[in-house]
Amino acid sequence: MSDRTDRNYSDKYYNDKHTEELMQEFAAGFGGKILAAAPMAGYTSWRIGGAADWLLEPATPEDVAAVLELCARHRLPLVTIGRGTNLLVSDRGIAGVVMRIGEAFSAVEYLADNRVRVGAGALLATLSRETAARGLTGLEWACGIPGNIGGALMMNAGAYGSSIGELVTEVQVAAYTGTEKAKAGVRRLSADELNFSYRSGCLDALAGLSAVALEATLQLAPGDSAASLAQIRDTLAARAKSQPLEYPSAGSVFRNPAGSHAGYLIEQAGCKGMAVGGAQVSLKHGNFIINTDGARAADVLSLIEQVRAVVAEKSGYILETEVRLLGRAN
Ligand SMILES: Cc1cc2nc3c(=O)[nH]c(=O)nc-3n(C[C@H](O)[C@H](O)[C@H](O)COP(=O)(O)OP(=O)(O)OC[C@H]3O[C@@H](n4cnc5c(N)ncnc54)[C@H](O)[C@@H]3O)c2cc1C
Repeated sequence: MSDRTDRNYSDKYYNDKHTEELMQEFAAGFGGKILAAAPMAGYTSWRIGGAADWLLEPATPEDVAAVLELCARHRLPLVTIGRGTNLLVSDRGIAGVVMRIGEAFSAVEYLADNRVRVGAGALLATLSRETAARGLTGLEWACGIPGNIGGALMMNAGAYGSSIGELVTEVQVAAYTGTEKAKAGVRRLSADELNFSYRSGCLDALAGLSAVALEATLQLAPGDSAASLAQIRDTLAARAKSQPLEYPSAGSVFRNPAGSHAGYLIEQAGCKGMAVGGAQVSLKHGNFIINTDGARAADVLSLIEQVRAVVAEKSGYILETEVRLLGRAN
């Protein structure tokens, strides 16, 4: 399968008593939350997924560095998530540690020259409305994207021909160096060190370093707040008309292939309405798979394969997933 995947198989990792003791010890110096056997269906917009062995929600950049170090030192598999709006988590859950960057990292600071510095846990849609209301233009397109800034940076979230990468001047990340001692630190990356491309985020080049986005600085422009807010209202109305927002989903399942649109190809191939278990290709939008009733990851994966096969047969295009697959092999 040619999908982008963050699956974390690890045959070396066992969630045994040792890990439990390790977590108890770690909790003493950790300012955030630690949850064992966290049901990931509660942390994803698809409402799908088994339990993560450990879910850690850091409260400070130091906590983030501490989690990186813990995982590196003890060889615990680690994946960082935001609001889980672009994730398909395995029914068998996620081995090791899921680090969720959320509300604790949602500070917003308005800087000189129409720049805004925003924490990775802040919601992109909220920032879109807030900046518009302040008379700053540039983020109106993002008003209907439900993830947070960290997820947007990693996915290079975009819509209507714009994407976040075009606005980013700097990103602050926590990363460990990958050396034996696995010491994690916070560093700033400037625009020319970042490498955004279509639905591919700025830190992919640093993937080997397990980089975690902590905050970003965006360059906006002076605008007319009434016009920006009107644009946002229109955009939200258009999205509500064309997207099945009344059902749990992860937005577009497939990336647009060069020269075409996945939604169009799926519709033309007659796949709308196809269903497996509780998962269905939306009748409203061909590139959305909705959770109509207790869908499992296995249902969605099977539907993805079926759609891919039909589209390939009818159009010759091989669709790749935009959603990221996480966790143990299903
Ligand atoms: C109804 C709906 C509509 C949508 N519309 C759009 C759209 O128009 N355009 C669009 O681009 N997307 C859209 N999406 C998809 C999704 O909202 C975006 O991809 C969003 O940017 C993901 O953010 P998140 O916080 O949910 O990230 P998650 O889904 O939690 O994670 C996404 C990826 O980023 C990584 N990650 C997350 N946070 C961090 C961090 N702090 N540091 C390092 N890695 C991190 C994760 O490991 C994962 O690989 C839509 C989704 C839904 C449900």
